Amino acid sequence: MPLFNTSNKHYYVIEGDIRSYFDTVHHRKLLSLVKRRIADKDIIDLIWKFLKAGVMEGQLFAKTEQGVPQGGIISPLLANIYLHELDIWAEKKWDLDQYARMKNRTAGRGNYKMVRYADDFVVVSNGTITEVKAVKEELKDFLSTSLHLELSEEKTKITHINDGIDFLGFNIQRVKPEGKWVVHLRPTEKGTQRIKKKIKDLSTRGWTWLDEYIQLTRLNALVRGWSEYYKHTSLLEDIEEVTKHVWFRHLQWLMRKHKGARKHKLIMTKTKVIHNRTRWTATIQEGGITLEAYQWLPTRKELKRKRYPQKGKGGFKHPYTWEDEPVETDYPQGEIGPAERLYTDTIGVRSREEEPLKMSELKLRVKIRDHFSCQKCGHVGNSSQLQVHHKKGLTSNRMQDLETLCQKCHQSITSQQSAS
Ligand SMILES: [Zn+2]
Repeated sequence: MPLFNTSNKHYYVIEGDIRSYFDTVHHRKLLSLVKRRIADKDIIDLIWKFLKAGVMEGQLFAKTEQGVPQGGIISPLLANIYLHELDIWAEKKWDLDQYARMKNRTAGRGNYKMVRYADDFVVVSNGTITEVKAVKEELKDFLSTSLHLELSEEKTKITHINDGIDFLGFNIQRVKPEGKWVVHLRPTEKGTQRIKKKIKDLSTRGWTWLDEYIQLTRLNALVRGWSEYYKHTSLLEDIEEVTKHVWFRHLQWLMRKHKGARKHKLIMTKTKVIHNRTRWTATIQEGGITLEAYQWLPTRKELKRKRYPQKGKGGFKHPYTWEDEPVETDYPQGEIGPAERLYTDTIGVRSREEEPLKMSELKLRVKIRDHFSCQKCGHVGNSSQLQVHHKKGLTSNRMQDLETLCQKCHQSITSQQSAS
């Protein structure tokens, strides 16, 4: 890109990669850092025991999906405590006031900014490539002398932002689609392929015994969770690529479930246009009530996209410390979008708090909330194969005191309770 390189602006990114390696030396160091904040000896002892027991063995710096903790929260938490030292170092070095930053620029030097989550970090800079290379060496020295960590030489790349970087499941690239430079934030190719694979796995021939309602709501739950993470990306098309995949896979699944059914007949009978979008629908009947589910689609309303405040005098506001809610973006065509309550917990199920629920409806809601899976062993089943367990006996019918169990697990729990 010769045009870009003739300007005096450089946008290089150091993509930090710390080698996954954490031993006793690090355990001691970590504990000393934790002790600065936590005085409670019992908690310190507990964390020490966790470390010794190998609870976090090979996990502290193990990559989790999309850069967010999936199962255990303690590993990224401890990684954050450990690498907070790196934040402090970077802040002292690079968080300069406007005057100092300007001075750097006039002297031909670049300014720097680090963004980090757990052990994933990037350093962005407008310095020259030679300068950025030297900074990478400084980073490497600090990590090794102060934190006994090794920055991987070959994996820690220096990339120009026009070539795009991947960070925490996002692809960030500076592009010029219509004569103007903009930064695009998109799901990584890997992230999109992974969700498609999961959709495929959920809609194989082996799952055709499942009720249509359960099938549709669990596909919705999966896609909504994924879309929630990516809702602020630049292109809705990236999310639509995934929901189009759902459309296609669900059609295939229905054709296998209803052998001999014609494609157009299935589409005629099982889709509806809701808020200008054609969606799959499915119903479930139980205890005299019928519930309908709709395919979730990434309209602005359904994504609940908010507009983030623009960069102001004091820089960007911290996302966790805002006091005022971000403002919702206007709907482009003025359409209102589906009623929000329609999409609260499970798509298509309206909450009716005013009237007490019949037991059969309550049980169905518990199963929907638990995604029709046994809360002990994870077995997924049709509604008739699952039971609702009263955790506090028959004294409480509150949703939080009820859980979905398979017959096997329910039997073993009730026999334990009667034995004790
Ligand atoms: Zn079970």
